[in-house]
Amino acid sequence: MEIRVQLTTTPKRKPESTNLGFGRVFTDHMFMMDYTPEQGWHDPRIVPYGPLALEPATAVLHYAQAVFEGMKAFRAQDGRVLLFRPRLNLERLNRSNARMCIPPIDPEFVLQALKQLVNLDRDWIPTAPGTALYIRPFIFAADPILGVHPARTYKFIIFLSPVGSYYAQGINPVSIYVEPEYVRAVRGGTGEAKAAGNYAAGLKAQQAANAEGHAQVLWLDALEHRYVEEVGAMNVFFKFGDEVATPALSGSILPGIVRRSVLDLLRSWGMEVSERRITIEEVYEAHSSGTLKEAFGTGTAAVISPIGRLAWRDQVIQVNEGRIGELAQKLYDTLTGIQTGRLPDELGWTEEV
Ligand SMILES: *Cc1c(COP(=O)(O)O)cnc(C)c1O
Repeated sequence: MEIRVQLTTTPKRKPESTNLGFGRVFTDHMFMMDYTPEQGWHDPRIVPYGPLALEPATAVLHYAQAVFEGMKAFRAQDGRVLLFRPRLNLERLNRSNARMCIPPIDPEFVLQALKQLVNLDRDWIPTAPGTALYIRPFIFAADPILGVHPARTYKFIIFLSPVGSYYAQGINPVSIYVEPEYVRAVRGGTGEAKAAGNYAAGLKAQQAANAEGHAQVLWLDALEHRYVEEVGAMNVFFKFGDEVATPALSGSILPGIVRRSVLDLLRSWGMEVSERRITIEEVYEAHSSGTLKEAFGTGTAAVISPIGRLAWRDQVIQVNEGRIGELAQKLYDTLTGIQTGRLPDELGWTEEV
């Protein structure tokens, strides 16, 4: 398919890379294509970034039939622009699509389109340490029909946002509230898809945790409120003695690409790694007995986010005295080193735009 390109006639001023925040500034262009059952995905185009005109009846606004992805492009010191394991994001997008009754995309075509878009707006990629160009592909149900059923028509869009360093003041371990009541996802539900509605469902608990001074919520399983699942919109790891453990993908956990990369790296370093069930009691007992060495979240936005403190019911514990652990630091340095081309990419994880 030929990608039609309409360039902006009013390029925007690029922001300072010191004060970007996350997802507040958008580049000059976006990629779009449409789906109908008759034509499949068609009319791929790159057009100026701007508002969409949607009827109030548009299905996604009511029933959240929508999926998204999150990835980053980095500017290496030698000027190359690098993507990190982008095919994994596009494969996951198709798994999310399948769960949400959205027609699949062609990952190779979308990767080419994504590279063309990033290349066109490459001057927007910030260069300060820790900054990147965040890439947001998403698909939504576009029928202006109120019946509850899978839509006939969809829109696929990719837009770009220069984002600041997650750790402007250095990596700070955060305080986490172990949510005893609300749940993020349940096996059989949509938790393992990157589906829009999952995030709306999590806001209430996040707001309550923030009000108590915690940065995020640690989600427990929906049935027994015992098994650790995720932390905010990140996967979670614990270091118990010499074992590094993360919850096994149970059906309610989002299979993160940073999670997978951390597991791959740890195994390549010959470390003892497990994907298994982890109860919150085990975490607290490991703290009491002195074997809980580290805890951290993993995700594209922060890469590695150390947990300094956990609050469960009225028991507050400190992890590693509230400091970043040696392993979390090594993983952060290695992953960001590979992503930005500072370290050799021995596992073939980066792809040049
Ligand atoms: C996106 C996401 C993650 C992290 O996935 P990455 O591919 O590592 O960025 C983890 N949990 C949830 C709920 C997510 O939405």
